[in-house]
Amino acid sequence: MRRAFFGKLAASTAAPVAAALILAFVAGCAAPKAYHKQTPATSAVQSQSFMIPSADILPSNIIPQAATIPVYHTVHAKETLWRISKQYHVPLNEVMAANQIRDARQIKIGQRLLIPGVTRSATYNFVMPYLPPADHWKYIVVHHTATREGNGETINALHLRRGWKEGMGYHFLIDNGTDGRADGEIEAGRRWQRQMDGAHSNKSNMNHLGIGISLVGNFSEVQVSEAQLTALVQLTKSLQQRYGIPLSNVISHRDVPGAATECPGNNFPWKRFTEMLKRIN
Ligand SMILES: [Zn+2]
Repeated sequence: MRRAFFGKLAASTAAPVAAALILAFVAGCAAPKAYHKQTPATSAVQSQSFMIPSADILPSNIIPQAATIPVYHTVHAKETLWRISKQYHVPLNEVMAANQIRDARQIKIGQRLLIPGVTRSATYNFVMPYLPPADHWKYIVVHHTATREGNGETINALHLRRGWKEGMGYHFLIDNGTDGRADGEIEAGRRWQRQMDGAHSNKSNMNHLGIGISLVGNFSEVQVSEAQLTALVQLTKSLQQRYGIPLSNVISHRDVPGAATECPGNNFPWKRFTEMLKRIN
């Protein structure tokens, strides 16, 4: 299952050459025969642990377990060290120690912080967010921001201006490479970190039952990037497995009963998205 997924993913995402080589190795096609005799490919893969804080809850078949790299977080405006430590689910004192920080208030915009004990796949631009225990998430609702640009902070500010006191209405944002974020980066919002209701679909009790994921972009005008789609597939699959959400409950905003919206846009590749999800079932 793992091999099939990586093979298809590599073919469908036009991964960089280095990543393709890694995937080829995982798929076993670059390994000499002698290697197989000594060590089965499966155990070679399993022996390389993927050290992210939520590793115990991530489905092992969808996150590459070879080729991981350390995670550095670049400080953005309005971020606090406390919030950054919460985001990666690493104790504040450990983040401070790893970066020789004595006073948690003394961080600067643009500063690169090593996040200790956390690594990410070299293949993707995202770190899978921490998925805490919860039992009321029944749906995953996919949106677009209907903006050309954005990041967690700017969308948060936009939603605060709309009068939503808890800020960004989505639980997760998948960036598109604008406003200082990488294409396909996943940001977990405050509502996710505090396990609060969203403000993304006000019909059918979906703000309470549904995890809101939004992709930055206006997909009535432009296309979803491959990096964004890949991140969405991985995040959705992790959420499905973590909270027992069936594929039938992975819906677009426009499909929420009672919703009158085009969100996430007519160009959103819904069929391809669900096919990618099915492939890694
Ligand atoms: Zn929407």
